[in-house]
Amino acid sequence: MANMTPVKTPMPNQDPEVRAHNFEEVALGYTEEMAQQEAARCLNCKNPRCVQGCPVNVRIPEFIQKVVEGDYEAAYQIITSTNALPAISGRVCPQESQCESKCVRGVKGEPVGIGRLERFVADWHRTHSTEKPAKPESNGHKVAVVGSGPSSLTCASDLAKQGYQVTIFEAFHTAGGVLVYGIPEFRLPKAIVQGEVDNLKALGVEVMTDMVIGKVLSIDELMEDMGFEAVFIGTGAGLPRFMNIPGEGYAGVCSANEYLTRTNLMKAYLSEYDTPQLKSKAVAVVGGGNVAMDACRCAMRLGADKVYIVYRRSMEEMPARNEEIEHAQEEGIDFRLLCNPVEILGDEKGHVCGIKCIQMALGEPDASGRRRPVEVPGSEFVLDVDTVVMALGTSPNPLIRSTTPGLEANKRGCLVVGEDEVSTTREGVFAGGDAVTGAATVILAMGAGKKAAAAIDRYIKSK
Ligand SMILES: Cc1cc2nc3c(=O)[nH]c(=O)nc-3n(C[C@H](O)[C@H](O)[C@H](O)COP(=O)(O)OP(=O)(O)OC[C@H]3O[C@@H](n4cnc5c(N)ncnc54)[C@H](O)[C@@H]3O)c2cc1C
Repeated sequence: MANMTPVKTPMPNQDPEVRAHNFEEVALGYTEEMAQQEAARCLNCKNPRCVQGCPVNVRIPEFIQKVVEGDYEAAYQIITSTNALPAISGRVCPQESQCESKCVRGVKGEPVGIGRLERFVADWHRTHSTEKPAKPESNGHKVAVVGSGPSSLTCASDLAKQGYQVTIFEAFHTAGGVLVYGIPEFRLPKAIVQGEVDNLKALGVEVMTDMVIGKVLSIDELMEDMGFEAVFIGTGAGLPRFMNIPGEGYAGVCSANEYLTRTNLMKAYLSEYDTPQLKSKAVAVVGGGNVAMDACRCAMRLGADKVYIVYRRSMEEMPARNEEIEHAQEEGIDFRLLCNPVEILGDEKGHVCGIKCIQMALGEPDASGRRRPVEVPGSEFVLDVDTVVMALGTSPNPLIRSTTPGLEANKRGCLVVGEDEVSTTREGVFAGGDAVTGAATVILAMGAGKKAAAAIDRYIKSK
């Protein structure tokens, strides 16, 4: 019998007052009983629209029925037949705008908590199964994967399962891309990402870190000297934007990428790590996306007394996930909406001592369909802060395209791809994820990695 309760089974969370001062995971995950209760809300539709809403087409009602039956391992096998990273997507996917937005239960109440169930199943498997994936027999073909974010991990996994000898080349000292250097531990524990990388290694994938392709080796060298028959570029969009306002050169101004990398990848929050990080009393994070939410919540956990979000539009236009905004509010972040920085103020030592902002009002919709913010004359005010973190979006780093002849990029610096969405303008070179789309989402990057693996397989077999 279906559970017709109109609301999702609530996710247990750490208490906001406690969690605002630690880096442990905020969402604690469903118990078996909660998972059963939530799974029973699924109507097992004949024409499941939720599956169409998932960029990697997870067979959602099928896995949920296995949860109802208590066969969690079967549920895991169904999910992983199309999604290589369920513990990750179950935690960070914007389900509300994908699978859950299509759920029929969402018409008269809340949709089924598909992401929460996916996370439950993946965590159940992780804690109950010690089996590593078996290494498939080699088909003798070599493929290089540049970068190790979700697009690359998915592409490498799909290729390795078909017997390809895959080598990942990652610029940082740890594999995982934004999953390890951007998204904080309290949303996505790094041990989970490491577990996925270990699974890839068990499949025979070699992971080479500290390898900046375009500097240490070029794509040409990978293909011509090292015998890789195809290359996948999944180098993401890690180049930060700034506002170009006066004062951005003061000490204490940094990009969200740098702030988050020092905090997460370089573990600045652990005393045994000697990572230099801004020790701030008051922080302004400029922006309204997920990156801004992660940066402000890290600032609070690193010990700031006051943390502001400075965003030039209203709450309605804020691009961050609702859940992230709510969590930030619960943790005491001060949201200054309709507010735009015009200058960063510095003291006599050249350190940030404030951020001058101007109040905004919403005008007519712009090209993005969102109402354009316009300045309210004479409404300037100053927030006393010693740190400003810019979370204004990112674009792909130009290193690879500038060192690879024949590889074209568009005006935004994103690699140009063909109709199949993954073939670049250079033969044998494929690309996907943020390097192609600009900053997007984990699941879209995974979908692109999957498409690229299929295209690489077709390409190599057709040679
Ligand atoms: C702070 C933050 C929070 C986010 N939160 C969410 C969220 O909650 N949900 C969601 O769906 N999405 C979120 N995103 C977006 C999501 O993480 C990205 O869309 C996704 O990671 C893109 O995957 P990717 O594989 O294209 O690249 P990335 O994850 O960016 O990985 C690229 C990798 O390539 C490496 N690299 C770059 N250049 C080179 C080179 N020349 N040689 C070798 N290696 C190189 C980089 O070091 C990096 O490890 C967030 C992004 C950020 C920054």
